[in-house]
Amino acid sequence: MTLTLYNTLTRKKEPFSPIDANNVRMYVCGPTVYDFAHIGNARPVIVFDVLFRLLRHVYGADHVTYARNITDVDDKINARALRDYPGLPLNDAIARVTEKTADQFHADVKALGCLEPTVEPRATDNIAQMIGIIQSLLARGHAYVASGEVLFDTASMPDYGELSKRNLDEQQAGARIEVDAHKKNPGDFVLWKLSSAEEPGWDSPWGRGRPGWHIECSAMSARYLGQVFDIHGGGLDLIFPHHENEIAQSRCAHGTPVMAKTWMHNGFLQVEGEKMSKSLGNFITINELLADWPGEVLRFNMLRTHYRQPIDWTKKSVDESARILDGWASAIATGGAATPHASVVEALSDDLNTPLAIAELHKLGNAGDHAALGASLRFIGFTGATLRARAEKQAAAAGEVASHVEPLIAARLAARKAKDFKESDRIRDELAGMGITLKDTKNKETGEIETTWEVAR
Ligand code: AMP
Ligand code: ZN
Repeated sequence: MTLTLYNTLTRKKEPFSPIDANNVRMYVCGPTVYDFAHIGNARPVIVFDVLFRLLRHVYGADHVTYARNITDVDDKINARALRDYPGLPLNDAIARVTEKTADQFHADVKALGCLEPTVEPRATDNIAQMIGIIQSLLARGHAYVASGEVLFDTASMPDYGELSKRNLDEQQAGARIEVDAHKKNPGDFVLWKLSSAEEPGWDSPWGRGRPGWHIECSAMSARYLGQVFDIHGGGLDLIFPHHENEIAQSRCAHGTPVMAKTWMHNGFLQVEGEKMSKSLGNFITINELLADWPGEVLRFNMLRTHYRQPIDWTKKSVDESARILDGWASAIATGGAATPHASVVEALSDDLNTPLAIAELHKLGNAGDHAALGASLRFIGFTGATLRARAEKQAAAAGEVASHVEPLIAARLAARKAKDFKESDRIRDELAGMGITLKDTKNKETGEIETTWEVAR
């Protein structure tokens, strides 16, 4: 079975062949940790988790290295630290914001059924590596120092723009870069900038400062995956400028013809037909959704759409996903076959065709092949853990209700027996007020009245 993947670099679906089948290497741009991740941010995390699982299946679990970084240096983080912890020294406040947000992110994506990446480097642990790459770029004539900044010289790279397929004019328009007098070209971007005394900073040959955003990923991918690796992923919005600039930095610093062989980008997610934004008030965090749904239902809903298509995230589709997955809950819990069904692996091997894989799951379910269905679902990350957690929560809530209701029913039956109908009616009304309806039936053998109850819907 050949694995084919769509490569943004060539705009084609291509057979995938790793540089080293004993160490298949994938890098995905991770979160900037200043606030809860939203459901759009969950998309690349889930999509590339499925690819990680597939690669592990094909090449062996020990033969895949997946790096997903945490961006813990960013002006948005500084602003959040000042807002939330005004009394603390800035570095401590920043550490609080980044630790708390990274912990939330980890809890969210675990609930979504995602494996931990092999390595999860943090930008602040890789400053020396970034400085090293910037020094190489300066030495090779691809960067220059101006007004306290180190800038990448886009004109020094003949095929700059190869990924986004923009010419220099379009790039400048697309990036809406202000014309800065200190830049040689408007598209030149920051590798290092000076920090004021109030801003976080690290010592460097160019003074105390902090890195630009793009340089982080060039440094961390090279450190953990090498100068040239197999797959680089992220959302569509990262193609330009972020990934274009990562490529420019890495290739020019290392003198390599490519940074990653295959570039993959997930499409965007919108909510109920609208772009998600704080101003429209339709901005949903993963954390909020997890209050209403098992994480696996959210994961399933995400995978019903092919990763390159846009997703319209609606309550209706999540409801439908919950129904489908609930129907498969017992199959997920079935032991037996450990390996996923070939039809499911084959569907995923065709550029991660998850809608087709799900159609295959339906076929297995309809054929009553619960062992293969369960194994295939577990393979894609459905362990049943969050479904079970919800069932337990519901059972506990039902037990809680029963512990209130049953003594009242016993008291009502006792009142009826004693012909205290006023009291028995009062108890019935009290239960009705709690949303509990009663049904009395006469036991044919004993002649006793028995009462069953249910929660009104
Ligand atoms: P950010 O924190 O904005 O850098 O985004 C983290 C990741 O989520 C990146 O890979 C983005 O491309 C991706 N992303 C952000 N918003 C959306 C969205 N609405 N739909 C799909 N992916 C998104
Ligand atoms: Zn990146």
